[in-house]
Amino acid sequence: MSLRVAVCGSCGKASFPPPFLCPACGAREWREEEAASGTLEAVADRGEVRLGAVRLPQGPLAIARVEGDAEAGAEVSLSEDGDVPVARA
Ligand SMILES: [Zn+2]
Repeated sequence: MSLRVAVCGSCGKASFPPPFLCPACGAREWREEEAASGTLEAVADRGEVRLGAVRLPQGPLAIARVEGDAEAGAEVSLSEDGDVPVARA
Protein backbone atom coordinates (compact mmCIF):
# COMPACT_ATOMS: atom_id res chain seq x y z
CA MET A 1 0.00 0.00 0.00
CA SER A 2 1.08 3.53 -0.63
CA LEU A 3 -0.48 6.96 -0.82
CA ARG A 4 -2.46 7.98 -3.87
CA VAL A 5 -1.39 11.34 -5.20
CA ALA A 6 -3.67 13.29 -7.55
CA VAL A 7 -1.88 14.63 -10.61
CA CYS A 8 -3.69 17.25 -12.68
CA GLY A 9 -4.59 15.95 -16.13
CA SER A 10 -4.22 19.44 -17.56
CA CYS A 11 -1.06 20.97 -16.10
CA GLY A 12 0.53 18.04 -14.24
CA LYS A 13 0.60 19.64 -10.77
CA ALA A 14 0.53 16.98 -8.04
CA SER A 15 -1.69 17.43 -4.99
CA PHE A 16 -2.28 15.57 -1.75
CA PRO A 17 -4.96 15.10 -0.64
CA PRO A 18 -6.86 15.50 -3.93
CA PRO A 19 -8.32 19.02 -4.10
CA PHE A 20 -11.67 19.96 -5.61
CA LEU A 21 -9.92 22.07 -8.22
CA CYS A 22 -6.34 22.07 -9.39
CA PRO A 23 -4.73 24.91 -7.41
CA ALA A 24 -2.51 25.75 -10.38
CA CYS A 25 -4.92 25.78 -13.33
CA GLY A 26 -8.44 25.09 -12.01
CA ALA A 27 -8.93 21.85 -13.92
CA ARG A 28 -10.92 18.98 -12.44
CA GLU A 29 -9.39 15.98 -14.19
CA TRP A 30 -6.97 13.81 -12.26
CA ARG A 31 -4.83 10.80 -12.70
CA GLU A 32 -3.47 8.89 -9.72
CA GLU A 33 0.16 8.22 -8.94
CA GLU A 34 1.47 6.11 -6.09
CA ALA A 35 3.82 7.49 -3.45
CA ALA A 36 5.40 4.55 -1.62
CA SER A 37 7.90 6.61 0.32
CA GLY A 38 8.88 10.17 1.13
CA THR A 39 11.13 12.34 3.27
CA LEU A 40 10.01 13.21 6.77
CA GLU A 41 10.61 16.97 7.06
CA ALA A 42 9.15 17.63 10.51
CA VAL A 43 7.59 15.74 13.40
CA ALA A 44 5.24 17.07 16.06
CA ASP A 45 4.33 15.15 19.18
CA ARG A 46 0.64 15.62 19.90
CA GLY A 47 0.29 13.45 22.95
CA GLU A 48 -1.33 10.26 21.75
CA VAL A 49 -0.24 10.73 18.15
CA ARG A 50 2.91 11.83 16.37
CA LEU A 51 2.25 13.90 13.28
CA GLY A 52 4.72 14.26 10.47
CA ALA A 53 5.09 16.42 7.40
CA VAL A 54 6.28 14.14 4.60
CA ARG A 55 7.59 15.48 1.29
CA LEU A 56 6.29 13.22 -1.46
CA PRO A 57 8.38 12.39 -4.55
CA GLN A 58 5.80 14.23 -6.69
CA GLY A 59 6.28 17.43 -4.64
CA PRO A 60 3.32 17.85 -2.25
CA LEU A 61 3.70 17.81 1.53
CA ALA A 62 1.49 15.19 3.22
CA ILE A 63 0.50 15.29 6.87
CA ALA A 64 0.75 11.75 8.19
CA ARG A 65 0.58 9.81 11.43
CA VAL A 66 4.13 8.76 12.30
CA GLU A 67 4.57 5.25 13.67
CA GLY A 68 7.81 4.27 15.31
CA ASP A 69 10.64 6.62 16.17
CA ALA A 70 11.33 8.22 12.80
CA GLU A 71 12.80 11.71 13.07
CA ALA A 72 13.04 14.64 10.68
CA GLY A 73 15.25 13.89 7.71
CA ALA A 74 14.39 10.19 7.59
CA GLU A 75 13.09 8.34 4.58
CA VAL A 76 9.74 6.83 5.50
CA SER A 77 7.49 4.32 3.83
CA LEU A 78 3.91 5.44 3.30
CA SER A 79 0.61 3.64 3.60
CA GLU A 80 -2.99 4.39 4.42
CA ASP A 81 -4.99 3.33 7.46
CA GLY A 82 -8.48 3.91 6.16
CA ASP A 83 -8.18 7.50 4.93
CA VAL A 84 -5.32 8.35 7.28
CA PRO A 85 -1.82 8.59 5.81
CA VAL A 86 0.73 6.63 7.86
CA ALA A 87 4.52 7.07 7.77
CA ARG A 88 6.92 4.42 9.08
CA ALA A 89 10.68 4.48 9.37
ZN1 LIG B 1 -3.70 21.84 -13.17
